[in-house]
Amino acid sequence: MVEDSSKRKRPNILVTGTPGTGKTTTSAALAEATRFRHINIGELVKEKNLHEGWDDDLDCYIINEDLCVGTYKEVCDELENSMEEGGNILDYHGCDFFPERWFDCVVVLQTDNSLLYDRLVKRGYTESKLSNNVECEIFQVLLEEAKESYPEDRVVALKSDTIEDISRNVSTDRLGEKLAFFIPMA
Ligand code: ADP
Ligand code: MN
Repeated sequence: MVEDSSKRKRPNILVTGTPGTGKTTTSAALAEATRFRHINIGELVKEKNLHEGWDDDLDCYIINEDLCVGTYKEVCDELENSMEEGGNILDYHGCDFFPERWFDCVVVLQTDNSLLYDRLVKRGYTESKLSNNVECEIFQVLLEEAKESYPEDRVVALKSDTIEDISRNVSTDRLGEKLAFFIPMA
């Protein structure tokens, strides 16, 4: 069992991956299946104005990463009570960002390069943003980041190529087993 989760009745899950791998779609499906809270960090920082403007290259809001002052601290303060309570699915494209103690399970979604390319074209990404993101996927940047930031047994890489993958990922697949371990009511 994860040491820091001892006070939580339900687990917290981080769903991460390169933009376009299906974090938001998967998190929403997982929230429906588990009745956990889906927290889209991008939406949260926008709604509560916990950012310092828009980063057009990375296609996300800028969060000041100083641990003690500014927007990173504000985001963490905003989430701390919910995270202590448990039962949260955080949806974010980074994983060395939040306190390690928050998560019982870190899901890294992975998508075939050409499928990912097509999804990002549909999103209207420019050529340079397309290649940056597909490269990020090819080099498994998020998976490496997750393995560096969390104990290996908490990290689960899941394929997210098709809609069937999503159904499988939120039900009986490896994640289902991982979660069953943490969810007493299951
Ligand atoms: P992210 O939040 O990681 O950027 P989204 O969940 O917004 O990704 O998905 C991006 C697009 O790709 C959406 O149009 C979504 O419907 C599609 N998509 C995501 N995951 C899959 C999948 N496993 N199979 C098919 N389409 C997917
Ligand atoms: Mn998203």
